[in-house]
Amino acid sequence: MFSQSQKLYEKSCQLIPGGVNSPVRAFNSVGGKPVFIDRAHGPHLFDVDGNSYIDLINSWGPMILGHQFDPVVEAVKEQVEKGFSYGAPTEGEYLLARQVNKMAPWAELTRLTSTGTEACMSALRVARGYTGRQKFIKFAGNYHGHADPFLVKAGSGVLSLAIPGSPGVPEGTTQSTLIAEYNNLENVRDLFNEYGSELAAVILEPVAGNMGCIVPEEGFLEGLRQLCDDHGTVLIFDEVMTGFRLAGGGASEMFDITPDLVTYGKVIGGGMPIAAFAGKREVMETVAPLGPVYQAGTLSGNPVAVACGLATLKHLDDSSDIYERLEKTTKEIKDILLERFADHKVAVNTIGSMISIHFGIDKASHYDDVANADNEVFKRLFHHCLKNGIYLPPSPFETWFISQAIG
Ligand code: PLP
Repeated sequence: MFSQSQKLYEKSCQLIPGGVNSPVRAFNSVGGKPVFIDRAHGPHLFDVDGNSYIDLINSWGPMILGHQFDPVVEAVKEQVEKGFSYGAPTEGEYLLARQVNKMAPWAELTRLTSTGTEACMSALRVARGYTGRQKFIKFAGNYHGHADPFLVKAGSGVLSLAIPGSPGVPEGTTQSTLIAEYNNLENVRDLFNEYGSELAAVILEPVAGNMGCIVPEEGFLEGLRQLCDDHGTVLIFDEVMTGFRLAGGGASEMFDITPDLVTYGKVIGGGMPIAAFAGKREVMETVAPLGPVYQAGTLSGNPVAVACGLATLKHLDDSSDIYERLEKTTKEIKDILLERFADHKVAVNTIGSMISIHFGIDKASHYDDVANADNEVFKRLFHHCLKNGIYLPPSPFETWFISQAIG
């Protein structure tokens, strides 16, 4: 049933490292060989062998409206006919910044990038430039892209300076990275007590989506906000996953916490390579050419990508009940999973249109919980679904994303 995919995979392996352009696509966590996709429409993916799947990844988040959603396709076509890229400012970029500011008013100034990695790397640089400090706190199991300072061995709950988690990352680069445990405010408080006056930033996924889907416990985000305020530290919410997905204003709106800086990706581009960092005017005014913190990109604010992102955000903003509908569908999927696995020890976490399932544990609220889950059962679930027309993320640590087309 996967013969064409397998042939393409073998050929790709000759020319592309591991046959894929991003590691998790290779199915290493679940075993087997990746499926090659030919096209997508609405809630479905179609592979090169003619199999169809209900898509529960949605390009790892961006396709919240489903594939080939008409108003988005029209906006992209219109821009394609006007040219792909100019390397000069366009009205679309202004309109997108205005739309972001409307949905997330704390984004007083917005700079577009092409990837979430760039957005997070740049936000950290801005926080360091603004405060004149070097150290920052990140949380074990939170992912902020593959820039050097974030790639550290994130041993959970360890109150220590981090060591690089990938060959090629110089030790010096991660010496200023402090690791804390997500949902453990005491742990963060200890770090502030020791390093408070040296801390440029705290960066986190306000809802963690890269260790399954882990929701912040009551008081956690509020406590971080307070610690940052008390110490003149920049609070960065990495909303690459959650921005425009959990609500118009993302997790910041949902939990009513205003970050100093915020990063976006995924939904903001509607499937095209757009991301952004944004935030308080005073902090963002340090960004070049207004201020001294350098940041740039040849294809940043690419007009075709901007048209796609703008049409996506406008649709989300104009629909009165889209987030409720997405949440309803997600709860229905949760109920199906709980019923199907009633005889298993299982934790199914959902928030908005994000979902994750963890076997062998009955609650998943910390990195250690998820790290101790039984991934063998997940692997079997993954392959069972793949054979039966449901495309899940090929890793138990990845969040499933629901689109409005499913439902
Ligand atoms: N931040 C978060 C929370 C993410 O989930 C990701 C990617 O999945 C990134 C940053 C990096 O974004 P990108 O893959 O676009 O570089």
